[in-house]
Amino acid sequence: MSESIVVLGAGIAGLCTALALAPTAGRITLLERDAGPPDGVEETFDQWSRLGASQLRHSHAFIARLRKLIATEHPALLAALETAGARELTFAEGLPPAIKARYVAAPGDEEMSILVSRRSTLEWIIRLYVEASPNVTIRSSVFVKGLISARDARGALVASGLALQDGEVVLGDLVIDAGGRNSPMIDWLAEAGAKTTSQEEGCSILYYTRFYNLRPGRNEPPRGDIPATGDLGYLKFGMFPADNNTFSFTLAVPEIEEVLRAAVVRPDVFDAICKVLPGVAPWMDPDRAAPAGKVHAMGALKSRWQDMAPGGVPAILNLYCVGDSLVRTNPLYGRGCSFAAIEAHALRDVLATHVDPADRARAYGVRVRDDLHAFYADMVEQDRGAAKRALAGLRPSHKPSWRARLLRGFLEDGVAIALRQDTAMLRAAMRAFHMLDPPRAWLRKPAYLAKILSVWAKGRHANAALYTPNIGPNRPAMFALLGLDAGADFARMQAAAQSL
Ligand SMILES: Cc1cc2nc3c(=O)[nH]c(=O)nc-3n(C[C@H](O)[C@H](O)[C@H](O)COP(=O)(O)OP(=O)(O)OC[C@H]3O[C@@H](n4cnc5c(N)ncnc54)[C@H](O)[C@@H]3O)c2cc1C
Repeated sequence: MSESIVVLGAGIAGLCTALALAPTAGRITLLERDAGPPDGVEETFDQWSRLGASQLRHSHAFIARLRKLIATEHPALLAALETAGARELTFAEGLPPAIKARYVAAPGDEEMSILVSRRSTLEWIIRLYVEASPNVTIRSSVFVKGLISARDARGALVASGLALQDGEVVLGDLVIDAGGRNSPMIDWLAEAGAKTTSQEEGCSILYYTRFYNLRPGRNEPPRGDIPATGDLGYLKFGMFPADNNTFSFTLAVPEIEEVLRAAVVRPDVFDAICKVLPGVAPWMDPDRAAPAGKVHAMGALKSRWQDMAPGGVPAILNLYCVGDSLVRTNPLYGRGCSFAAIEAHALRDVLATHVDPADRARAYGVRVRDDLHAFYADMVEQDRGAAKRALAGLRPSHKPSWRARLLRGFLEDGVAIALRQDTAMLRAAMRAFHMLDPPRAWLRKPAYLAKILSVWAKGRHANAALYTPNIGPNRPAMFALLGLDAGADFARMQAAAQSL
């Protein structure tokens, strides 16, 4: 295969496409609307304008599946990322206290490392690596404004290039849409009469991130018993260690929490929240760390699965979507970059084994569905449950059904507690979390189910030592601490809950 390839977008998916295809393809041209990065990790974080990928300054981590893919397929890239400051967090480092003390490494544990770094560093280094390939060109500051396509003799729509805003046309044997979550491609296809279908759900949360620099000579605090990541119902929070003495916090606020949403973007409120979360507070010590810039906010978060060959009929030939333009996932799961890289490498395999464009389109769709749809469906199901529970809990008359109570007990007093004491089960659960094994398959294993039931049967009292200590204030206490009016929003949210 030595076909020329033109790519819309040089974000993570565009770069992964070039990474996967460079060894076998002809010329690869990435067309990117934003200007290229400045030189240096700090300069890139501070100055790189990324209007096309505004999540650049939100917390990012590469889960184990992606770290493993890079380690296996592109070891020199992994080395370059680590030289630039990206760090691996191992399975052992993340263990709960009851397991950590008696942990013995097992084969496979080394696969479960996460790569942590600022996204600006990750993207910059991948870009430098990809650009070093002699057949890859990234053209920055060029806005793609249309798709070049035509019907062939059999009436199939065939892509052949992309049109730029200034009128230039960039032709390719194959066209890749890596234009991200706001890619205009689906609209262009609809205009051209191509039929695609999609499944879409709101994530019901907003994301707020602030980065911090460790002060010279200061270290990260030791990991204590109280986690720096957790879910308070009205607020989810996460700490992300990053490269070169930086780290970030992300707060995820339900969309219905309008008062909190409006407040969190203020740096003083963001920091005040972090300081009252016991697992987070040590990171916020002003002698230890200082904020690096403002609070970055992001909304309109959606999950979306795009089917480019509904009913097995490709909407268009010689055009492939990779990354968020094909599948968008809730950022809370940290899987978007993994999806993009897996898709890009699946495309490489499909192009190598099929020649006919329709066969290729179908095979790519099947590969992506077989590998990723179960993770997508599991995520959407979890999100629906979380949104429903959050709203139902606000109804004054709300009495959870026995089924809901049973499920909650099973999850909170059975699964969660068993995971805090059983290394083998935790391993299995984490492999699913990291997309190394199918989602939830571990939960159906009779041995684990028996263990969960026996832990659950012992009851809260006997298991008291395994429960996580208080991870933060409840909603009224937090609102009081922040001087926010909990009542105003509550009435409106209860009204929304009544409509359930
Ligand atoms: C808040 C947040 C946090 C996240 N955290 C994580 C995480 O921890 N781990 C993880 O794996 N994933 C995470 N993700 C998901 C991840 O950011 C995306 O899945 C990933 O960036 C997808 O890559 P992409 O190339 O498809 O899109 P992007 O990276 O967004 O890139 C799209 C590119 O296309 C360009 N483009 C668009 N239109 C045009 C045009 N008309 N002309 C030229 N160029 C164009 C854009 O400028 C951009 O560079 C997060 C997402 C969000 C929103």
